[in-house]
Amino acid sequence: MRKSFVAGNWKMNTDVNSGVKLAEGVVSGCNDLAGKIDIAVCPPFVYLQQVGKALQTSHIALGSQDIYFEQKGAFTGEISASMLKDVGCTYAICGHSERRHVIGETDDLINKKVQAAITGGILPIFCVGELLDERKANKTAEVVTRQMKKGLAGLTEEKMAAVTVAYEPVWAIGTGLTATPQQAQEVHALIRKLLAEMFDRKIADTIRIQYGGSVKPDNARELMNQEDVDGLLVGGASLKADDFVAIVKASV
Ligand code: PEP
Repeated sequence: MRKSFVAGNWKMNTDVNSGVKLAEGVVSGCNDLAGKIDIAVCPPFVYLQQVGKALQTSHIALGSQDIYFEQKGAFTGEISASMLKDVGCTYAICGHSERRHVIGETDDLINKKVQAAITGGILPIFCVGELLDERKANKTAEVVTRQMKKGLAGLTEEKMAAVTVAYEPVWAIGTGLTATPQQAQEVHALIRKLLAEMFDRKIADTIRIQYGGSVKPDNARELMNQEDVDGLLVGGASLKADDFVAIVKASV
């Protein structure tokens, strides 16, 4: 049995006070769910420490929205795995579509980030997903297969056990358009098949695959009811504690 895992990606939102308040709201709303589901929130880098304090006595984990692959040195503006560990992070999102398509990250760079996260003791949430034009051109499987193979290249089975995969169709992120549960299930099943081919059956059966893309309290349960949907990566709706808590509760 794969334990459900819901993570909130706050993107470039909140400030210190609103971020701490949001975290406190998530903590109190999810108080009774310890052991039943894994939950994480991913605030901007600069608020990790304060938000981490608000999570301290809870079962809610702290995650970052990105990570750099080098350990330390002359990499202005970048943040390493050891720095993330130092401020209490458990997870790091790697290869979010906004980093792929707005910032220009490549599959190879994302692969280095995934590798560095695991080596540094951080659990990567590795994101894949196709653009609208790619879906329209029936290229979803091709794109997701390439992202999976390149992004997870060189990982051993042992390292792979640290990874969560997030399927986030780019056309559904922040647009209010959600993949239908059937569309999500189809790609999640493909991802699980790829995991079996690239690693082994045990990895395929144990790795959690989150869905992300305009998840809301009213569509969370239907998505989670799909066989291969093991969790959710939530953007916009994670900025309201009540909505995020409702999504978490629908995912238990
Ligand atoms: C995301 O940022 O990963 C995301 C899925 O955003 P939204 O829920 O707003 O579509």
